[in-house]
Amino acid sequence: MNYGQCEGPRSTQLVRFRAWPMGIALFALFANGVRLSYVLVLAVVAAFVRLRRPVCDACEAVSPAGLFRSLTKARTEERTSQAKRPVQLRVWVGILLFASGIRLSYWLGGSLLHDLVEGGQRSLLPLWKAWVPFSVVLLAVGVGLLRLRRPVCDACNLAEPAWLVRPVGNRSATVAGSGTTRRVVLRGLGAAGAVGASAVAGLAAAVFRNRGWVPVANDFFFTNVEKTAPNPRPEWNGARIKSYRRLGRTNALVSDISLGSGQINDAEVARRALERGVTYFDTAPDYSDTRSERVLGEAMKGHRDKIFLATKFCVADGHLPDDTPVPRIIEAVESSLKRLQTDYVDLIHIHSCDRVERLLAPNMHEAFDRLKEQGKARFLGVSTHTPNLEQVANAAIDCGRFDVMMLAYHFGMWPSFGHILEKAKAHDVGVVAMKTLKGAKHTNLAAFRDEASAYSQAAFRWVLSNPNVSCLVISFSQLQHVDEYPYASGGALTHPDMALLRRYDELTAGDYCQPHCGACLASCAYDLPVNDVLRYRMYFKDYRWEKEGMRLYAKLSRGAAVCAGCAAPCARTCPLGVPIQEKMLDAHGVLSLPA
Ligand code: SF4
Ligand code: SF4
Repeated sequence: MNYGQCEGPRSTQLVRFRAWPMGIALFALFANGVRLSYVLVLAVVAAFVRLRRPVCDACEAVSPAGLFRSLTKARTEERTSQAKRPVQLRVWVGILLFASGIRLSYWLGGSLLHDLVEGGQRSLLPLWKAWVPFSVVLLAVGVGLLRLRRPVCDACNLAEPAWLVRPVGNRSATVAGSGTTRRVVLRGLGAAGAVGASAVAGLAAAVFRNRGWVPVANDFFFTNVEKTAPNPRPEWNGARIKSYRRLGRTNALVSDISLGSGQINDAEVARRALERGVTYFDTAPDYSDTRSERVLGEAMKGHRDKIFLATKFCVADGHLPDDTPVPRIIEAVESSLKRLQTDYVDLIHIHSCDRVERLLAPNMHEAFDRLKEQGKARFLGVSTHTPNLEQVANAAIDCGRFDVMMLAYHFGMWPSFGHILEKAKAHDVGVVAMKTLKGAKHTNLAAFRDEASAYSQAAFRWVLSNPNVSCLVISFSQLQHVDEYPYASGGALTHPDMALLRRYDELTAGDYCQPHCGACLASCAYDLPVNDVLRYRMYFKDYRWEKEGMRLYAKLSRGAAVCAGCAAPCARTCPLGVPIQEKMLDAHGVLSLPA
């Protein structure tokens, strides 16, 4: 580093090191692995060292002026022959700030990026983690461009404090002398380029911190998972809904196969489903980050009166807590109405209800009553697939306020679950079945490939063979679904269907966690919600709802990483033979990004 060489007469004098408290503090901060005590000892020794060096007789500057200062005379104010000239901050100040900005981008920006990609609730993300590094990088750019006017020694060409500022060099002087406009333009271009390059460097640092994501990204982008039946059959073409059922006390007649929209991207899929006779649309603000509601809003234009529309009490970031103020709940529903481009929804569910306290939360009920009075919502429902499903469903029927229940229901649940559906029927509560494909692994089981095309329809016929089910909701995301799913409408369950479903069970034994089972939960040494974790794994691996699975997993207060060091008291507690510890570790591997 050249701090300027004195060109005037010089004499040898005593000098000492400059006090660099700020430099030492920064050094200690950034020198990972260097113990602070070593740094302090070094600082104390440096404070007492005296050397003899050539010193400028005119201004007492000693070279390098950034490192030493004269002990013999007074300083700047006593200098002779000094004129004010442009000076700039030394290059190392900018470099230090820039390095700090990049380092902060790595730490803070990387951490923020991690939370963002993993699906943390965006409204709670600490955005200061982006602003702080960006501000420091901007400061570095500012330091590089800053020009001041300070007294400069004519003899040695140094300005005080010499460790911090230096007169602008010949090149700068040339530019400075070549016209104000050109200087402003050049500086502007330089600043814009520097800010852009710095922002890219900061982002690269944040991404680099998360380089451990590579395996998850491979799973995310490069694993090919089918979402439709592998061999579409010609007889499906143009399939239409053949059966409509009464949805409990709502008195609405709805298609037995109905449209779920968790993964819908294309309004044309919903329009075609409507043309084929599907009349019940199910959506929620947190499906695909409100995209589901927006797509359905587009698809329903001009057809709103033909559709029984259901959404949920929630926002894009997730479910509303039980104690959410009533105006906030109403505001959330009004936002849904805007996205759906309608004045009202037919049905609104208390979403993913896992406890009776949530089911009966007074705020939710008061909000619904007000929405109903205003004509913005017609009926109240509850959706649940938790281990407390039976408890929640019983309470929903008993309290008399719920018109519809949306329940996880698939083959293999009878007869343990049948009595709830009978009770719902007796109280005229409509039942909408979900999770009907029992993990939807059929399209990706190599040994099941020949039968897979018939699987969804066999599974649907099994669900609809129960007359107490009003309809089932299945996720339509591709045009093929418009042929594939309605083909099962109105069909009777057959012996080949049952054989197929049993074969699916054999092939997936030990791999499917019934989210509503919960038999293993009490055995977990860390109180992990095993059923939820494995459901999110299913979203990632089988449904290919990767982001949704990761977002939900990130919200858990404790992840499955703890399974690695656990003695696994959960082993052999699963009636379905799921190897819980192995699956939990696998879930953690795909659902969490290394911190
Ligand atoms: S292995 Fe995991 S799921 Fe099983 S008991 Fe331990 S922490 Fe719980
Ligand atoms: S792992 Fe087994 S016992 Fe635990 S919730 Fe899933 S199906 Fe039930």
